[in-house]
Amino acid sequence: MYLYCERVLWDYKQNAYELVFDFYLREDLTTLSRFADLESNNNNTNLLKTLLVLNKVKVESYKGPRPGYWYDIPIEFFEKFLITETEPEYSLIKFNLTMQDNNELNFQQYRTINDELFINNETMNFHKCNFYNELNKLKDENNPKLIIRDVGCGNWNEIIWDDFHLIYDLGGDVKFKESEMNTIINRANLTKKFNVVISHWDLDHYRAILDLNDTQIKLMENIVVPSKMPNTLQLNNAFNRLQSSGINIDILSPAHKTKSGRRIELVSQGKVNNLELFRSSDGSNMNQSGIVITIEGNEKIGVLTGDHHYPQIYNNVLNVTSVKSYVIVVPHHGGNAGEFNKNIWDTLPLSEGALSTKSFRYRNLPQNKIHKFFIEDKSFHCTECHSSDFTSIL
Ligand SMILES: [Zn+2]
Ligand SMILES: [Zn+2]
Repeated sequence: MYLYCERVLWDYKQNAYELVFDFYLREDLTTLSRFADLESNNNNTNLLKTLLVLNKVKVESYKGPRPGYWYDIPIEFFEKFLITETEPEYSLIKFNLTMQDNNELNFQQYRTINDELFINNETMNFHKCNFYNELNKLKDENNPKLIIRDVGCGNWNEIIWDDFHLIYDLGGDVKFKESEMNTIINRANLTKKFNVVISHWDLDHYRAILDLNDTQIKLMENIVVPSKMPNTLQLNNAFNRLQSSGINIDILSPAHKTKSGRRIELVSQGKVNNLELFRSSDGSNMNQSGIVITIEGNEKIGVLTGDHHYPQIYNNVLNVTSVKSYVIVVPHHGGNAGEFNKNIWDTLPLSEGALSTKSFRYRNLPQNKIHKFFIEDKSFHCTECHSSDFTSIL
């Protein structure tokens, strides 16, 4: 069966991986239920629950699964796993399986590349988006307010100017329960119309599309998303929910590269009002196939980065000689995001910002040197250390 590697978590207690997969076919949920003898207690018909968690996994070196890749895994593979009870309040997790021995597994042999495993939708460029037109109509707004929500290891940023409300990433920690997601959604207090930009299609950046209630989701006017979409059950659930709620979905095509070579680039797709949107030239990494936005206020520029890498952000989005200082969301939850050169980043006019993260989820995330530079040296806000949202007037 085709399984998509959504997350590669690290279980510090077990000293082993905790892998989160999603499915391609709904039938495979039944196949796996039967195989794991789950049929009797599998009267759970919640269609949102599709994730498979594999606990206590050891892997051969360099043969582990990579997030954003598909694997064609034979059913016998699961013989080494035993079912463990999943707490009912985990809103997205359907199966929890635990490895029964210490054998190192080889996922790489199952790696598969197949066009069907990615969704092929009609795309457009930024100027054609409804969202672009909406921004174009705004006049003489006050200084925008930037909010970076504390959502565990995930991303949820907001820009509020006067009546215009933009949410960049409706995300949250993949392991958050429904109640934990509800606390975030309550803080966001969605009572007026809003627009959404999704940075890329990792669940920790879009899961709240499934967590919002019907009244809240119907307040969404437009959603702008990047075109590289894994054909997983979760993504299809999210997409179907948007469509059935009548929300306008604008899918942005990848950027044309301006230089030769294999490096992913972030290319400006234009500036409208005080918002500039950058689309990546896309690559094999899901979290590098996305959208970055900047918002210019009277004094500062907010930079919403998703999981994009330091060199691309530095080279294509920021300007060392900018008169206005930057308020930055630290990329990729402080984890590995390409080469981070402290000396280069020290030359930038950074006034403040925030790191949206949670430790002990992934190996080496947030990285010590990143946390030190932004939180200690630059006095940024860490959602984990401060356990609160960050707000700044730009
Ligand atoms: Zn992320
Ligand atoms: Zn911290």
